[in-house]
Amino acid sequence: MPVYLDHNATSPLLPTVRAAMVDALDLANPSSPHGPGRAAAMAVDHARRAVAAWCGADPRQIVFTSGATEANAMVLRGLPTPARPRVLASAVEHPSVGAWASDLLPVDREGRVDLAALDAFLGEHGPEIAVVSVMAANNESGVLQPIEAVAARCTAARIPFHCDATQLFGRLPAPQVGDFLTFGPHKGGGPKGVGALRCRSPLPALLQGGPQERGRRAGTENVAAIVGFGEAARQAGTMEPSSRLALEAAVRRWGGRVLGEGAPRLPNTVLALFPYPGDLIVMALDLEGVAVSTGSACASGAAGHSHVLRAMGEDGIAVRFSTGPMTAVGPALAALDRVMERLEG
Ligand code: PMP
Repeated sequence: MPVYLDHNATSPLLPTVRAAMVDALDLANPSSPHGPGRAAAMAVDHARRAVAAWCGADPRQIVFTSGATEANAMVLRGLPTPARPRVLASAVEHPSVGAWASDLLPVDREGRVDLAALDAFLGEHGPEIAVVSVMAANNESGVLQPIEAVAARCTAARIPFHCDATQLFGRLPAPQVGDFLTFGPHKGGGPKGVGALRCRSPLPALLQGGPQERGRRAGTENVAAIVGFGEAARQAGTMEPSSRLALEAAVRRWGGRVLGEGAPRLPNTVLALFPYPGDLIVMALDLEGVAVSTGSACASGAAGHSHVLRAMGEDGIAVRFSTGPMTAVGPALAALDRVMERLEG
């Protein structure tokens, strides 16, 4: 069995999540006016309460979507108007946010957004900004953004703040700030193809049609995935950085450098530049049965051109190790030793 250290791309389903989903696969349409319909609606409601509890929301504030990508699009497509057309996002956002940005906030060498640049932009263009979007944790580097400071500035400027917290689920507590919060379960033991938006303010529907999700997102619910999301939310805890620290020590032992190492980071993520190209190391580790990646899965295929690295003033192809709560890193460390010995030899 491969040693899987790519939890930031997606994580394996938890057994209790799988069991809950299998049971839910036969449920009816939650909008139907009969007993089977009511049973499905109850299952969705049960999940909604668990998901809301994870992020400290009222269940009515939760909109289920097809994933974090759609939740991001709902906010960033939904809020701009001709009078307020600008979407300000950090330069290191996931492409599902970056695609909607009209203006990018720079980050420092550690990958943290430049708050002075934010102040300057808000001062100059405040009335034209529909929404500011800054992620909680970066999917490639694991660097945590100062979202409380960003949120406070947005509140003062009366501009909605959106935060993509997709990488926090199952690792750290949910952020309490933000008018809109995107997240999903598949980085933390839940299914792919489902996500949620915590909405504290009204938002126009992106998908129009039926009255599902209180008119905010039309379409028959992906009931089994929502049930799985609920179960993953009930299981979602916080992770300790012990595996990350062991991986970082190995990176340094082999002459590598941990990116964003001076910044607060996710407990599960190490993004490292080695003296050898990262894609070579990823391939060599794959042959050893260890699954890691160069940056994000969404950017693979374009290996070596990470916008996150570039924004941090780095060059080259990095290796991303990302663990889960149950990952034992010993076999991965041994494989890394073998790979690096060969490269050095
Ligand atoms: N935002 C972030 C920070 C992510 O890491 C991801 C997944 N890589 C997404 C959004 C998109 O999630 P999904 O593909 O599940 O829609």
